[in-house]
Amino acid sequence: MRTIDLRSDTVTRPTPAMRRAMAEAEVGDDVYREDPTVNRLEALAAETLGCERAVFMPSGTMTNQVALMVHLKRGAEVIAPEGAHIYEFEPGAIGVLSGGVPRLVPAPYGVPDLEALRRAIHTSPHQAPTGLIALENTHNLAGGTVVPLEVQRKVQEIARTAGLPTHLDGARLFNAATYLKVPAREVAAGFDTVSVCLSKGLGAPVGSLLLLPKALEPEARRYRKMLGGGMRQAGVLAAAGIVALQEGPAHLERDHQMARALAEGLVRLGLGVDLKAVQTNMVYARVPEAPRFVARLAALGVRANALGTDRVRFVTHRDLDDADIPQALERIAQALERTSA
Ligand SMILES: *Cc1c(COP(=O)(O)O)cnc(C)c1O
Repeated sequence: MRTIDLRSDTVTRPTPAMRRAMAEAEVGDDVYREDPTVNRLEALAAETLGCERAVFMPSGTMTNQVALMVHLKRGAEVIAPEGAHIYEFEPGAIGVLSGGVPRLVPAPYGVPDLEALRRAIHTSPHQAPTGLIALENTHNLAGGTVVPLEVQRKVQEIARTAGLPTHLDGARLFNAATYLKVPAREVAAGFDTVSVCLSKGLGAPVGSLLLLPKALEPEARRYRKMLGGGMRQAGVLAAAGIVALQEGPAHLERDHQMARALAEGLVRLGLGVDLKAVQTNMVYARVPEAPRFVARLAALGVRANALGTDRVRFVTHRDLDDADIPQALERIAQALERTSA
């Protein structure tokens, strides 16, 4: 039985083209900036996303946290949408690494309430100073939802008026661009720093990029080294990243269609799915006794993640076959019968 892995878009394996590029990669010591393949990836990313510079790092947690270290003074607040990955899923790193304090604002579908965001900015000396405003696009915990470009611009305007920098956690920025049918650089536009993952839907085995202005680059590289992210012949990884950046985005539309088909199928099976939140490659469904359901489903060859007691997350990606979604729905129907029996 073929296992259908819907836990995350991080489960994809490098494609044959990536394997070839990795095997043939020209390499050097990247800490000396002498790895031509890393340099090529960073230049390509900067060009593609319309930013001055890009720095290659092992993970999106590192690109986000290095950005926060660059922007935040100890004790300063970062305003972020509720559910933000930088707070929820980067094991307390804000407090440990930059000494910052998160302040989360209400953000239905990942879109921050602008009034709440304005009110969250501190100016009083009795309060923690605000040091940064962060957004996430697409917003993972909200369902892989897309923040409209007008909202991004309004948030940037609020930040500019208050003299604050902005950071975009764009781990799935290319999914947002695909949904919005705009070039990726339009989603990245106007932020001081942007982080992008190569190892999610784009399919690379490892790697993220921090996009930033030239002036912030030396500090970002210093923090990357401090965190142990100074890799040596990293060109073998960057080579896969180049293929991911060039060929990955074209596959995302299919991922989104599969998520839509899955969501509609789950609704037909009687599960609670907010279809309005199904915009990219994720589906969150309400399922009673989610951990037990997920265990049953795994025994039937479909893997998904339980979130708390009553939610299950399914994520589509490029390693799925066309038959996988209909097949997964059949097995989900079986698992539901057994759960209720
Ligand atoms: C996956 C992800 C990251 C980075 O995660 P790593 O596993 O550290 O690469 C950052 N932000 C969001 C929204 C993500 O989904």
